[in-house]
Amino acid sequence: MHKARKRFGQNFLQDQSVISRIVSAINPKPGQNLVEIGPGQGAITELLLNKTNGVLNVVELDRDLIPILNTKFFNHAGFTVHEHDALKFDFGVLAQDQKIRLIGNLPYNISTPLMFHLLQWSHQIQDMHFMLQKEVVDRLCAEPGTSAYGRLGVMIQYQCKAEYLFTVKPGAFHPIPKVDSAIVRLTPYSELPCVADDIEQLANLVRTAFAQRRKTIRNNLKGVLTAEQIESIDIDPGIRPEKLSVEQFVKLSNLKTRLGE
Ligand code: SAH
Repeated sequence: MHKARKRFGQNFLQDQSVISRIVSAINPKPGQNLVEIGPGQGAITELLLNKTNGVLNVVELDRDLIPILNTKFFNHAGFTVHEHDALKFDFGVLAQDQKIRLIGNLPYNISTPLMFHLLQWSHQIQDMHFMLQKEVVDRLCAEPGTSAYGRLGVMIQYQCKAEYLFTVKPGAFHPIPKVDSAIVRLTPYSELPCVADDIEQLANLVRTAFAQRRKTIRNNLKGVLTAEQIESIDIDPGIRPEKLSVEQFVKLSNLKTRLGE
């Protein structure tokens, strides 16, 4: 029996009904290109393999788990374990023939950098289903005007449709985590609803705009855009950043890019 390692953010799923619910939400089909990140001891992996006729790539960092996985699933010829840090893994190599569908009950400490790492290949990703801290899923899916809406939600929703699927209680895992978890579905847009001329500019502008949530955008964006410039694209400089839609952030960013040219 493998002893869970805190360093690798290991909380293994135990509850079969939660596992089935996750796999039904993913709805894997034979012939699809599924990739699981952090399979652990294979709690979700087993059901995924059953649904895909035994074809699945997994990326796992903990080398002690590799023989456990290979032994458990040795009878599936299409099962491939990549012993690698997902934060450094080149997911493009798995998506050469067909878009990938990513799945992961992820270590919570790497979830945000990992999502941005994965979005480098957004055009090669069909969708992503992740188990994350509930609070993070709330932020990913937050709508403008809510307290959960901020930098993370804007930057992810710029590229993906984000859907809150369901909550998972701490008792579903071993060891038991301190907080609630939730499943999110992220579907990268094949065509972005609104396009930033410069994605770095957008990232900087969103960070600056949310520097102090309770201040107006006029205040937060001081030195970046004047109140007159903000008004020139029909945005009220007196509102707080959380009131702005993703589209409005993109407009502000594109204005800044154009002014800088
Ligand atoms: N999916 C399993 C395990 C979840 S625990 C289950 O639901 O039971 C998180 C898993 O991610 C562990 O197996 C851990 O070793 C792995 N992991 C942690 N950091 C990782 C990284 N950087 N890259 C790939 N896998 C990682």
